[in-house]
Amino acid sequence: MVIILENGATENQVNNIKQHLIDYGFQIHESEGDSRTVLGAIGVKPGFDTRKLKILEGVSDVYRVTSPFKLASRNFKEDKTIVKINDVEIGGDNIALMVGPCSIESEDQIFRLAEVVAKSGAKILRGGAFKPRSSPYSFQGMGEEGLKLIRAAADEFGLLVITEVMQISQIDLIAKYADIFQLGARNMQNFSLLKELSSSTVPVMLKRGLSATIEEWLMSAEYLLAGGNKDVILCERGIRTFETYTRNTFDLSAIPVVNEKSHLPIVADPSHATGYRNQVPPMARAAVAAGADSLMIEIHDDPEHAFSDGPQALLPETYLNLVEEMKIIAQAIGKTI
Ligand code: PEP
Ligand code: MN
Repeated sequence: MVIILENGATENQVNNIKQHLIDYGFQIHESEGDSRTVLGAIGVKPGFDTRKLKILEGVSDVYRVTSPFKLASRNFKEDKTIVKINDVEIGGDNIALMVGPCSIESEDQIFRLAEVVAKSGAKILRGGAFKPRSSPYSFQGMGEEGLKLIRAAADEFGLLVITEVMQISQIDLIAKYADIFQLGARNMQNFSLLKELSSSTVPVMLKRGLSATIEEWLMSAEYLLAGGNKDVILCERGIRTFETYTRNTFDLSAIPVVNEKSHLPIVADPSHATGYRNQVPPMARAAVAAGADSLMIEIHDDPEHAFSDGPQALLPETYLNLVEEMKIIAQAIGKTI
């Protein structure tokens, strides 16, 4: 249920409304937008008479949110969420780029690629230190050593770090090095991990599960929001279909759907979505046109010898070119890169 407050509602009135909500057994979530302040009341019983709240002073309107996700919905929060980390914004008019190798492989490798990332104007360096691999025999990541390297490379070039957290026991360690947690596709419905990350102060980028509907994905985002983490970012990274000429099927339409249904920023990941280098630039350009708030792109300067995801990594040259193309498309829809 959403309670829209009157613009001039006094502190006493608001406190009184909140006390009523508590007495009725609701959990309260407050959202202060540019245009209005709303209270989200979670835990509405089927027969609850909303007039009990409508009559309170300071209340402008009360309505039920029919979608199963509440805090993630546009009804609860009309204004787009902008996740701010230092001077970087995700969800505003500037399209933030998250770029780097699939895995951190060595000091040399991450520093070389961080330089490319900074040169392109991107602000966020990506790289996995703990890797979710389909095969137990594949490279599993450098662990803490990798975290130290990506942090050092990011600091050298004035970048933020996004890296994947695979399990609860890694949260505290990764929080020492990362600015954004990546919650990978295979963990989208790891509810214990979601609950644990919901009480973190570190922003979380939640990737869509391999076979998850948009609703299931938004329900996972709801876990993060319900636990108090307001800095939630969604990432469309392709879903599994019957198609075999692409690694996954890039669900481009998820971008406008998420933008309509939710206030959360949406990142497009054309690298994992397609799995092949030559398919990444067209899909990256399309994602900008479709309204993505950010893009995650994998790059490598020696993809043949990459420890993971070499075939989908863009060479630095191709990537730098792509950024120039995306700038033009962004401008056409009133955004910048
Ligand atoms: C990755 O970002 O390298 C990764 C493993 O992503 P996903 O969870 O989308 O497969
Ligand atoms: Mn990868």
